[in-house]
Amino acid sequence: MTNFPISEFENQCTPFYFYDITLLRRTLDEIKRYSNHPGYHVHYAVKANVNPVILGEILNAGLGVDCVSGGEVEAAMKAGFSADKIVFAGVGKSDWEIEMGLTHDIACFNVESLPELEVIQEIAAKMQKVARVALRVNPNIDAHTHHYITTGLAENKFGINIEKLDDIIEAAMKMSNVELQGLHFHIGSQITINDPFKLLSEKINELQAKYGKKGITFKSINVGGGLGIDYDNPNENDIPDFYSYFNTFKKYLKLNEGQELHFELGRSIVGQCGSLITRVLYVKEGTEKKFAIVDAGFTELIRPALYQAHHNIENLTSNDEIEKYDVVGPICESSDCFGEDEMLPKVKRGDIIAIRSAGAYGEIMASQYNCRKLPKSVYKM
Ligand SMILES: *Cc1c(COP(=O)(O)O)cnc(C)c1O
Repeated sequence: MTNFPISEFENQCTPFYFYDITLLRRTLDEIKRYSNHPGYHVHYAVKANVNPVILGEILNAGLGVDCVSGGEVEAAMKAGFSADKIVFAGVGKSDWEIEMGLTHDIACFNVESLPELEVIQEIAAKMQKVARVALRVNPNIDAHTHHYITTGLAENKFGINIEKLDDIIEAAMKMSNVELQGLHFHIGSQITINDPFKLLSEKINELQAKYGKKGITFKSINVGGGLGIDYDNPNENDIPDFYSYFNTFKKYLKLNEGQELHFELGRSIVGQCGSLITRVLYVKEGTEKKFAIVDAGFTELIRPALYQAHHNIENLTSNDEIEKYDVVGPICESSDCFGEDEMLPKVKRGDIIAIRSAGAYGEIMASQYNCRKLPKSVYKM
């Protein structure tokens, strides 16, 4: 549970991100504990948060990284991750991004289509390099999450359809500058039940058995990320259930002798350690509603506006009787609302509000819309 250093907050310019690094370390310890299994490798999905302090902690914990752009590969290298711990996914890799990955000899390109594979072969041949690749397979599994963040269904833009996989594997094996290392999967995000991961394991077993019969084996399997966090109970449930998560794979996924299993966790690593801290500017009485107008908006945290997500909201500076508020930001868009009918201790101008569980897809998605400044960060070590 996060204890906020409220007296420190009083002097800070709001809005800002607050990161509880102690909680991040405890989270990383749990991951290390339950992923300590032969062949298991955990990568951090950098797109959740590239804050350098956070990257530093994750580097120290010994994790690798999963990147989805050339910029993220650069950020990871700058933070100190070695190229052999960097994998690079994404449906639309530009030529310069592929070249950069090859220049640094990153561990693996997670390839999402045949045209992409052909371009990687062409660029690698020109550079006289060999590109290690994994094929991202779309397993057609419903992750039971919001439709904006489900990625493993046949109609999603991500990955290679299973029916096309035979042809692409065959093509890859003929390419002189491509080394096919494995299969990659990522079925969605904010998955809070283990069933989709069990289904994924079974699908992978089927595929491995099928290709095994043809004499095709893979050095590694990558099951992506997607483990969710408890947005409703950030204090009681500050660390996701990594035991059950890793255990699902230990129990259901059959690895070949010496085969590696890679994970790419984003939200579950950094989600709960971050909060967006904002001040109340005005309390406005509508005819039916009361609005708490705060100085943060979707420019700092876009998840409510973008995914209809809800983050717990706490008034850190009031113990008065509970009243009902819509908590809204200053941006000129009606979607700039953090919560409707929030029950909060009576709010007044100057109160400090914490918007919880904002460590993942928060700061990194901040924008300068309305010419606003990008948020700063404060840390508790
Ligand atoms: C976004 C992403 C992840 C991480 O997803 P989380 O839900 O944050 O764990 C992992 N792998 C790939 C390929 C991704 O695009």
